[in-house]
Amino acid sequence: MARYTDPACKRCRREQMKLFLKGSRCFSPKCPIDKEARPPGMHGATRTKQTEYGIRLREKQRLKWFYGLLERQFSRYLELASKAANTGDELLVLMERRLDNCVHRLGFAASRKGARQLVAHGHVMINGRKCDVPSVLVKPGDVIKVKPANRSLALARLSLQTAGGEPVPDYLEVVNRDDPEGKMTRLPTRGDVDQRIADIRVQLIIEIATR
Ligand code: SF4
Repeated sequence: MARYTDPACKRCRREQMKLFLKGSRCFSPKCPIDKEARPPGMHGATRTKQTEYGIRLREKQRLKWFYGLLERQFSRYLELASKAANTGDELLVLMERRLDNCVHRLGFAASRKGARQLVAHGHVMINGRKCDVPSVLVKPGDVIKVKPANRSLALARLSLQTAGGEPVPDYLEVVNRDDPEGKMTRLPTRGDVDQRIADIRVQLIIEIATR
């Protein structure tokens, strides 16, 4: 499975915003974006003027990295979303429906990256069946449950205790906190998108994709 291997915090510095890729560290004083906000690289601080293309590219990278996607996966979502009446909203909704995103937003993992690992390592079940594919799209009525094994439960319970009180969105419901279990109650909408990325200019992303 392909994955990014460069330092996570470098991506936040490149985008000049917090992408919340490292769980509790992102909320602590150790977050480098609070201390050293300049872009990475020897000439990072001197690169100021962005081209029209550059502005659109940065918007796309922000969204992609926020949800932990690679280029090919992102293109697939864009293609799927382009079949809907409102491409921008559908793109965000598709990414919200990803299993790793739902696991994170239910509080079972401190970050999307952690949720992806939890799923890929087989600690999560959908409707009673093990699912180790983080990109699975969750449907309304689907039950997401952490596997009833000591190690799986310990990981999810620890995250629920240290999640920092992030609110669970309306379209998800935590059914049980002791044996971590949640449910998708309805399809997410644009309004349910994580507020930390809600102001992303999706129209610019669509423009760059259809050039
Ligand atoms: Fe690193 Fe998280 Fe801060 Fe980003 S938000 S710079 S990933 S600690």
